[in-house]
Amino acid sequence: MHVPAEELIYAFHSDLVPATRVSTPTTVVFDTVDALGGQVRAEGDTIDGLDFDRVNPATGPLGIDSARPGDVLAVDIRSIELPDQGAIIAGPGLGVLPDALDAPLSRILPIRDGHVIFGDLRLPARPMIGVIGVAPESGSYPTGTAYRHGGNMDAKEIGPGATVYLPVFRPGAALALGDVHAVMGDGEVCVSACEVSASVTARLRVLPGMDLRWPLVETDKALIFLISLPSIEDALREATAQAVAYLQRTLSMPFGDAYLLASLTVDIGISQLVDPNKTAKAVIPKWLVGEFGVQHSGPTAPAAGAS
Ligand code: CA
Repeated sequence: MHVPAEELIYAFHSDLVPATRVSTPTTVVFDTVDALGGQVRAEGDTIDGLDFDRVNPATGPLGIDSARPGDVLAVDIRSIELPDQGAIIAGPGLGVLPDALDAPLSRILPIRDGHVIFGDLRLPARPMIGVIGVAPESGSYPTGTAYRHGGNMDAKEIGPGATVYLPVFRPGAALALGDVHAVMGDGEVCVSACEVSASVTARLRVLPGMDLRWPLVETDKALIFLISLPSIEDALREATAQAVAYLQRTLSMPFGDAYLLASLTVDIGISQLVDPNKTAKAVIPKWLVGEFGVQHSGPTAPAAGAS
C-alpha cells in the first residue's frame, strides 16, 4: 500500500474523508513533501518568497477500516528514506529568539552517507516525523498546530523503531503524516530543522478500547507522552499529570506515591517551542512500566550501566 505525495492535507478536521482505506494490520508507504512545500531548493529561496498555502503539507488522509472512537491507532515507524538534500530557514520574528535576525536566512543541507552536511560539520542524521495525526474529536486544526489528535508535535523520538500511539476520535481515524526532518534538536529553536521530502514506511495496528487522551510514543527505552498547548508551562504541567496518572494506573498505587515516584524517575522535557501550540514531553522509563498497553507485573530495576 502506497500513499502518494499528491494526496496532501493542510488541516486535520473532524470530517476528513479518506480517499483510501485499509484494513489492519498492514504496512503502508507514505511519500511526504517537506514542511516548506518543496519551495526552498537553493540558498536564495527564503521565507519571504514562500507561498504559505503550501506550507506544512501532510500526506493522507488514510482511512483505517476497523478504527473506532475510543480505540488507539498504533503506527510502528519501520523506516524513513531520506533524499540527498534538505533545507533550513529562519527569519525576523520567528523562533525562540525572534529579535535576533534582521534578514531571513536559509541553507541547503546536503545529506550524504547518513550525515547532514552543515558547512564543515557532518551531523549524524536522525530522521523523524514532525507531523503525524488523525481527525480530531471536533473542529479543525491546521497541520502546523498540534493537539490531542497529534499534528505538528516535532518530537525527535518519532523515528525508525518507534511506535506512535494516537487516540482515535472519528470512525476510520483518518491518518496523515509529513514534515520529516533529517535531524533536529529539542526545541527546534530557529523555527525549522533539516526539512526533507521523504518516504516513510509504517506498520499500522488498531488497539481496541484503550484509555489514551494524548499522543504517546514508545521507543526501546521509554514511553513518552506528548502534550501540545498554547503555553509551554501548561503543556509541561499536563505532561507531568499524564505521567503521574499513568504510573498510578499501571503500578496500581495511590496518587501521592505515583507523584513521588514520577519525581524520582520521569524526565520532563520540551519537544518544540516554535509552533502555535508548544509541545512538552514526559519520558517514563520502560524498565519501570513495561511496554504500552501490556499488563505489567511491576518494575524491574535496570541492569547496572543501563540508562
Ligand atoms: Ca514541524
